[in-house]
Amino acid sequence: MMKKWSPDFDRCRICGTTERKHMAKGMCNSCYQKQWKKENPESIKQWRKENKEKIKQYNKQHGKQYYEKNKEIINKKNKLYNEKNKELVAQRKKQWALNNSDHLKLYRKRYYQENKDKIDRQVKQYRSENRELVRQREKASGKKYRDKNKEKSRERKRRWEKDNPEKARAYGMRRRAKKRNAEGNHTGKDRKFLMDLADNKCQCCGGSDRLAIDHIIPLSKNGSNGIFNLQVLCLFCNSSKGNHRNTDYRSLEFLQAVYSYRAEDWVRMHKISPELPIGATI
Ligand SMILES: [Zn+2]
Ligand SMILES: [Zn+2]
Repeated sequence: MMKKWSPDFDRCRICGTTERKHMAKGMCNSCYQKQWKKENPESIKQWRKENKEKIKQYNKQHGKQYYEKNKEIINKKNKLYNEKNKELVAQRKKQWALNNSDHLKLYRKRYYQENKDKIDRQVKQYRSENRELVRQREKASGKKYRDKNKEKSRERKRRWEKDNPEKARAYGMRRRAKKRNAEGNHTGKDRKFLMDLADNKCQCCGGSDRLAIDHIIPLSKNGSNGIFNLQVLCLFCNSSKGNHRNTDYRSLEFLQAVYSYRAEDWVRMHKISPELPIGATI
């Protein structure tokens, strides 16, 4: 004859198990405890109050395991709660983040390192889908940061300008051009190209002292900021240029080289045939 689970029952009368230990009233240990808890909420509350530290320790040890086991139910419950208490939850989150900023930083860093590829991919996609929004946000946060760290950002800017002189000058000119609503633009790379093409010599006097990129028709006279309005001049020739009418010192070969340089870009950017109609504005 099979051994009975308890004197009066073959199995737990609630859940039917024969595995767990028998407790009173034909219930297994687990069912009995559940029932007792249901019937004695006040005692539970009291016990929790008195054993906060113990509970904390227990959760630390078993919380993750418990969560993994009951994921779906927990997530559902949390979601419901969060929806019902939106403001409170947001407030708590904010407070928590403030109280745990160091911890959060570390956690984010680790999370990023563990999921680098995925995150980079997501960020890239988001940025390409929300270009204008991202640009505005970055502008705002960049300004905020610079206002907060004036000396630091000034130093960084100085360093960057030193390392990227032509790029920096291109930015400067772009700013000035924008102020005047000038047509066209050029990059630091374009400036380097022009300097090299001019053999790092002034196109007026052939000197190589204090060279700069010059607008042939000045921005102040509605000249373009594009590459076809640029030449290389030394400071002396530049300042003696004044308001003379004919101040284009570029040779025909120089101009042709600029055209074909820009045409290559044009072809690459637009993936079109390299034949360029004569006189086309690029
Ligand atoms: Zn049971
Ligand atoms: Zn010169």
